[in-house]
Amino acid sequence: MVKERKSVAVIGLGYLGLTTAVCFTDRGFPVTGVEADARKLASLNKGVSTIHEPLIPELLAKAVKSKEIRFVGSVHQAGDPDFVFITVGTPSKADGSIDLSYVGRAAREVGALLRRNRKYRVVVVKSSTVPGTTMSLVKPVLESESRCNVGMFGLCYSPEFIREGKAVADTFQPDKLVLGGVDKRSTETVLSLYKNFYGHDLPRVIETTPSNAEMIKYASNSFLAMKVSYVNQVAKLCAAIPGCDVTVVADAIGLDKRIGRRFLDAGLGFGGSCFSKDLRALRSVARERGVSLPLVDATLRVNDDAAMAAIDGIESVLGKLGGRRVAILGLAFKPGTDDMRDAVSLRIIPELKRSGAHVTAYDPVSEENAKELLRGVKFANSASECITGADCAIIVTEWDEFRRLEPALFKKRMRYPFVFDGRRVYDPSKFRKAGIRFRAVGLGTTSR
Ligand code: NAD
Repeated sequence: MVKERKSVAVIGLGYLGLTTAVCFTDRGFPVTGVEADARKLASLNKGVSTIHEPLIPELLAKAVKSKEIRFVGSVHQAGDPDFVFITVGTPSKADGSIDLSYVGRAAREVGALLRRNRKYRVVVVKSSTVPGTTMSLVKPVLESESRCNVGMFGLCYSPEFIREGKAVADTFQPDKLVLGGVDKRSTETVLSLYKNFYGHDLPRVIETTPSNAEMIKYASNSFLAMKVSYVNQVAKLCAAIPGCDVTVVADAIGLDKRIGRRFLDAGLGFGGSCFSKDLRALRSVARERGVSLPLVDATLRVNDDAAMAAIDGIESVLGKLGGRRVAILGLAFKPGTDDMRDAVSLRIIPELKRSGAHVTAYDPVSEENAKELLRGVKFANSASECITGADCAIIVTEWDEFRRLEPALFKKRMRYPFVFDGRRVYDPSKFRKAGIRFRAVGLGTTSR
């Protein structure tokens, strides 16, 4: 139970902000969620989640019922919160640099709140911002808009490491908390909030400067992305050598504690709202400072190619794809979410269309989001319907329901039973025994 019921405002209720808001409410903090998008706001006011994310609908319904959460359309209506979390988007600009305009606007609005209603409160920036942003953008904007200096209010950069699909669990059980306060009081005040939030389960806390806190987030995402690209490069070589299988290699090297098994799943590359965006932003900042980051460059380059493993793999069996019917299983950038941002499906499907293939796609939750982004694609209502009459099925997103599909279903439904496993969810020998042509990322092929 919360000892001190400090109030929290969360600005920007996307994947991160909505998760933050409902988790704070669940731990007994009164929350005001601020969302500028009128459509999202209307939905949240009805208690309907705007994202597909496990546990969010339940927590949202509970929060709305308890009346401990309210949703408003602007910071102006946020009342008198003790803490203001900034969780707005930081998308890429066309040149790869980060678009900080949403953060700047939110800071201006919060600055006005600080001016209107003077008391000590702390602004916590959780949006991913390139190193230096809190000190060079957020702090001066807050100070000029509020007409008071840090000290009269607190400011802390605290990066977020949640994974979509596991966002609630990650919020309640993070590996660490990173607190980059602009002064000691800011850090201590945010720490006291988190002590109330986590109680006896307070994770390891790293207290540091705002710029270090920002760098920790970017260095962390770059490293994870590099692991993925590394294993995908190994996969490319494995696929060219009969008898090699990248999953066997990854399982073995992952047992080495210095390496670790996580983020060594070979596939069609990473997508999502964070990895590419953050790596490109980091590279852009590095360039401005005259620093080159060849590993970041290579990580992005390898990832750009990774999706093509599927096209090469199916062409090696079917030849030219003109007129072929290709079934795409999975559209979201990863399982457990409806997020289509930078999804691999958005790279593969246009390529298949360019080759003249007819594409039918199925995803358990992201069809609505996908329809806005993909033209000339037929959407099926089930995996079974999707593969019916197809010449090839490609596993693009590793949803559990695809893992459970039996070879017999592919054999029965497809015109030409041929599966390309882009996420390594199937046992190749089981499929081959069932008489299915089988290819997979990182699987050296000798027969069938
Ligand atoms: P998102 O685009 O899903 O959500 C941002 C929301 O902010 C939108 O709903 C937008 O309408 C709203 N918004 C923008 N300006 C506003 C304002 N002035 N007032 C009120 N609402 C405003 O973004 P996201 O995926 O939630 O990511 C947010 C930030 O968190 C990004 O910097 C991202 O890199 C970082 N992050 C995201 C995740 C994740 O899992 N999505 C994980 C870690 C970090």
